[in-house]
Amino acid sequence: MSIAKNLGSVRRHIERSAERVDRNPNDIELVAVSKLHPPEAIREAYEAGQRHFGENYVQELVAKQAALTDLEEIRWHFIGHLQRNKVRQIVGQTALIETVDSVRLLAEVEKRASAAGVTVDVLLQINIGDEPSKSGCTGETLAELLESSRQSPSVRATGLMVIPPFELDADETRPYFRALRELRDLHGGALSLPELSMGMSHDFEVAIEEGATLVRVGTAIFGPRQ
Ligand SMILES: *Cc1c(COP(=O)(O)O)cnc(C)c1O
Repeated sequence: MSIAKNLGSVRRHIERSAERVDRNPNDIELVAVSKLHPPEAIREAYEAGQRHFGENYVQELVAKQAALTDLEEIRWHFIGHLQRNKVRQIVGQTALIETVDSVRLLAEVEKRASAAGVTVDVLLQINIGDEPSKSGCTGETLAELLESSRQSPSVRATGLMVIPPFELDADETRPYFRALRELRDLHGGALSLPELSMGMSHDFEVAIEEGATLVRVGTAIFGPRQ
């Protein structure tokens, strides 16, 4: 299967899932997760109309940006675990940092954004299953994180992001997606936090049914990672 064909298929599935729950498919942004795939794969997807790409590693992101400067409309999402000492390298270079999960990290983004004279859009990452192995703040610490984002003039928190515990059966993931939406509703709802980034290759359809506005899809577009 070609990347263009895979993209077409994913987009059709997005449309159908949205229609099942009376949502407008245009309200859902497909983020093509290109980690560990070469720049040529990104170029192929871009030529098939894809604009938003997700990367997990700062060094890899920076290298790919350098290799693809001619793709003027490309929008990069940082979706990996972000170390504070790497924030400087991506501030101003990404459309969205999806993985802000602590007050300390947020403070670093604010500091670097302010120094660079830019405003940075971020999502707050939630560890919905309270899994010790995963990053993300808990539901309880979200209030604190939101408060410090409000006091950070160069950071705009536009929503929440989750990587739920892996379930083979996509439908088992539904309660986690629903919990993220409910958490958002507890904290001002879609007016204050419009974006919900949830759903990957095997469960993005369920995520859309539960309100996802960003789905992060890798394998279903680019095939397995090496
Ligand atoms: C790798 C990754 C994805 C994509 O996963 P697939 O199963 O390949 O679709 C999505 N989100 C995050 C945070 C990832 O690290």
